[in-house]
Amino acid sequence: MPDVVFSVDQSRSMRDQAVPGHNRWHPDVPAAATVRPDSSIRIECREWTDGQILNSDTAKDVRDVDLSVAHMLSGPVAVEGAEPGDLLVVDILDLGPVPQQVGDAPGQGWGYTGIFARENGGGFLTDYYPDAYKAIWDFQGQVTTSRHLPGVRFTGITHPGLFGTAPSHELLAKWNERELALIATDPNRVPPLALPPLEQGVLAGTLSGADLERVGREGARTVPARENGGNHDIKNFSRGSRVFYPVHVPGAKLSGGDLHFSQGDGEITFCGAIEMGGFIDMHVDLIKGGMQKYGITTNPVFIPGNVEPRYTEFLSFIGISVDHQENKNHYNDATLAYRNACLNAVEYLKTFGYSGEQAYLLLGAAPIEGRVSGVVDIPNACCSLYLPTGIFDFDIKPTAEGPRRADRGRCAVAT
Ligand code: ZN
Repeated sequence: MPDVVFSVDQSRSMRDQAVPGHNRWHPDVPAAATVRPDSSIRIECREWTDGQILNSDTAKDVRDVDLSVAHMLSGPVAVEGAEPGDLLVVDILDLGPVPQQVGDAPGQGWGYTGIFARENGGGFLTDYYPDAYKAIWDFQGQVTTSRHLPGVRFTGITHPGLFGTAPSHELLAKWNERELALIATDPNRVPPLALPPLEQGVLAGTLSGADLERVGREGARTVPARENGGNHDIKNFSRGSRVFYPVHVPGAKLSGGDLHFSQGDGEITFCGAIEMGGFIDMHVDLIKGGMQKYGITTNPVFIPGNVEPRYTEFLSFIGISVDHQENKNHYNDATLAYRNACLNAVEYLKTFGYSGEQAYLLLGAAPIEGRVSGVVDIPNACCSLYLPTGIFDFDIKPTAEGPRRADRGRCAVAT
């Protein structure tokens, strides 16, 4: 087993660990560990909300979740000799849920998918499903099932939702400038266009007092992907992947967490993966001066892992950039097209007895493929959503007999 360079006691908050992690991107968060290039390391992770979500049949915890503490990240891990302009080469060797049962935090035999309420960030279909919902998933080896989604069983592609290097002070200032400018275009929007720095809930490793307050005032929230990597939520960032991260500060300062047992492309419910705590094993190395050598100056590049579930048949739903209710055409809008593909899949699954919320949760969590199929055929962008037929224990393909409707239970609700 690789050396554990960041350990987590899953029965405690990240704040109460021997070495705490952090929940903002800031260059001054002190390194929790330092390793040499060409090292294999293990990093243990809390679930991204630091254990606020329970294995229960109510979604009140999702409705009331305190997002000022998220994402709770492990690290930073400094790599000796790393300098701005290098590429940090990270091989994902292995990852999974918490190996031993110590309490009942997500990742210890179970995980969850949440639909956030519109007032708390919402999700991709928040105009249609504005309330909070939840599905609990039980793990058995690589396979998962949910009492909130009967009739479904699938193999997960475990992956980290979020890993990245620390931004430099200059890069952090650029992020804050552009995101605050975006927020200013519609400052009262619900949900907001972006999340500004927030002092409430800030954690920055061992920093305290004025240093911690400064990180709270300046530190970038962890929700979006940015030039340091960050919250990519790419389901194929799986075992066997090799990631090339831009280095922006001495030591690179690699941090991450937000481990997922599974996820559909787009992670459409926002908390749409199957969220868990656990461990991740990585090998880290450097390509000196790699950013300029390869022109990798903004975002990371990666080689996806070659381990994934073997689903070979898909029912694919298509969406175009049209508002069908208003019969209004939008010009090559891939976001609208993908939203329509998702809505078409939800309506289809409802004919088998699932609620819209159950279908929405399923599309966030199961290994669905989302494709930008066409963005040149004016005026309609065309996106498609590939739903693996093999995850259902009944035939979901259209037949002359009609859909096999059944009582499919219900997901956890807030009221
Ligand atoms: Zn996540």
